Amino acid sequence: MKRLHVFLILFIMLSILLADDIWVFVEALNMRSCPSLRCRVVKVLSYGTVLQEMGRAVYTDSYDWIEVLGGWVAMQYVDYVPIEVVGDLPIDFDLNYSERPLPPHYRPSDLVELPREVTTKPGLMLRQEAAEALVKMLEAAQKAGYRLKVTSAFRSWEYQRKIYVAAIERYGPDQRYVAKPGRSEHQLGLAVDLVRADMKCALEKCFKDTAEYSWLIRNSWKFGFIQPYIKYNILYEEEPWHFRYVGKDAAKKYMSDFELP
Ligand SMILES: [Zn+2]
Repeated sequence: MKRLHVFLILFIMLSILLADDIWVFVEALNMRSCPSLRCRVVKVLSYGTVLQEMGRAVYTDSYDWIEVLGGWVAMQYVDYVPIEVVGDLPIDFDLNYSERPLPPHYRPSDLVELPREVTTKPGLMLRQEAAEALVKMLEAAQKAGYRLKVTSAFRSWEYQRKIYVAAIERYGPDQRYVAKPGRSEHQLGLAVDLVRADMKCALEKCFKDTAEYSWLIRNSWKFGFIQPYIKYNILYEEEPWHFRYVGKDAAKKYMSDFELP
C-alpha cells in the first residue's frame, strides 16, 4: 500500500475515533447531499438516530451544518448524545459547562407546586429546596416594596423541544432566544423567569432598568439564586428575568468575583 493511503486511512480512523456521537432530537430530519437547503434530501432520519460527526460547519441558509456519514444535517436539530442521569442532579449542577445535554426522561423527583399567589399562572413547579428559597426571596422583595411573580419555572424536555422548534419557525434558525431541549436550566427545576406583578417589561430587555431587577441582582444570591448569564454568556440573548437556584454557598461564591453594577 502506498504511504499516502496508509496516512489517509489512519487519518480517517482517527477522525472517527475522535468524533463525538450526536443524535437527532426531532421526529424527522432531512439528511442532505450537501450543506444547504437547496441540496437533495438523501434520507429522512427519525428521532433518536445516533450519528457520527465527521465535520462541520458551514453557515448557509441561516443553518449550521454537520457532516455525517452519507450526507449533511442541520446542527439546529441535533445535539451531542445526552448525559446519563440516575436520580436527581446536585443542586449546583452546571448545565452551561456540560458538553452534553440532559436526557429527555430527566425530571427531578422532588418538584413541588409554587404557591399560586407568587405565580402568574397555576401549576408552576420547582424542586422543593428552590421553591422554599424562592418564596422567602419574594417575601423579602415585597417587604422592600417590590412585587414580583414567577411566570415560568420547571419545563419538561418535551415542552422545551416544542418551544424551541416554534422559536426557529418564528425567528429563524439562528435565533438565540430559546435553548435546545436538554439545554435549558428550566428542565433542572431550578430556574425561574420573574416578572413584576403589574407585568411592566415582562420578559423584555427593559426589565433590566426596573428597581425590581436592581433589588434582585443585589439580593437574590443571599437566597441562593444567581443570574447564570451575567458573566460569560455567548450562547443566548441576555435574559435579565432568568434566575437560577444554585444554593446559598455556590451563589455567594459566584457573586464574590462579580462586580455589582
Ligand atoms: Zn428562563
